[in-house]
Amino acid sequence: MALKVYKYGEAVLRERAQPVAIVTDELRNLAEEMIDTMHKARGVGLAAQQVGRLEKMCVIDIPEGCEEPEDELFNAPVAMPLKLFNPEIVAQEGSQHDKEGCLSFPGIGGSITRAQQVTCQYLDEENRPQIMMARGFLARALQHEIDHLNGILYVDHMSAVERLTYASKLKKLAKENGGVR
Ligand SMILES: [Zn+2]
Repeated sequence: MALKVYKYGEAVLRERAQPVAIVTDELRNLAEEMIDTMHKARGVGLAAQQVGRLEKMCVIDIPEGCEEPEDELFNAPVAMPLKLFNPEIVAQEGSQHDKEGCLSFPGIGGSITRAQQVTCQYLDEENRPQIMMARGFLARALQHEIDHLNGILYVDHMSAVERLTYASKLKKLAKENGGVR
């Protein structure tokens, strides 16, 4: 079942998610519904706030061929789709500048600078603590989704010039969805 995807302007996107005490069947089901919703919307990641929830969890599914070959090799041990509970970035290095989009910002793009490589700690759906190292596109997706869980949106990382480029579109989108910027 596809869930409603909340758009820029809705207050929930600016709220901080609450850590999950234990991954229950209900949360496992929610993660599956989020994956379904993300696939139907042709996205590569989705965070709880984007479906109106405040549990600290997100899902990521990066299709093959999205990564640079050396990053794909580096990220190969990570099985998709990812269901991450209480994810945190505990280390990062380097930088990358590339295009980024978000299902909560239809029709808006922009290029954002992110760390090139991150180390992420999280709980898997069996409540086991995990640690993952990721580079390139997967590292970008992790940073984007974990930002969502802290109420931070990718437009917050845009340069002043990009923000000006998208100013009227952003204003219109926010106005249509509740007006919270
Ligand atoms: Zn997003």
